[in-house]
Amino acid sequence: MTTIDLCRPCAEARKARGEKLRPTITGIDRKIRCADCGRRRFGATYESVRKEGSREAVSDV
Ligand SMILES: [Zn+2]
Repeated sequence: MTTIDLCRPCAEARKARGEKLRPTITGIDRKIRCADCGRRRFGATYESVRKEGSREAVSDV
């Protein structure tokens, strides 16, 4: 399972690109360092859920 820390704007941006993100129960509303923008701010830990059978290559770090 892949987990990723994201602030809210970056999480929304990823969702807008079609990525499925599921917040982990323990990860909501805590201080994280965002994996996308690199800032320390409040956000959440998400599970990145890959779409089964998707032909799109999802690149993440
Ligand atoms: Zn961010």
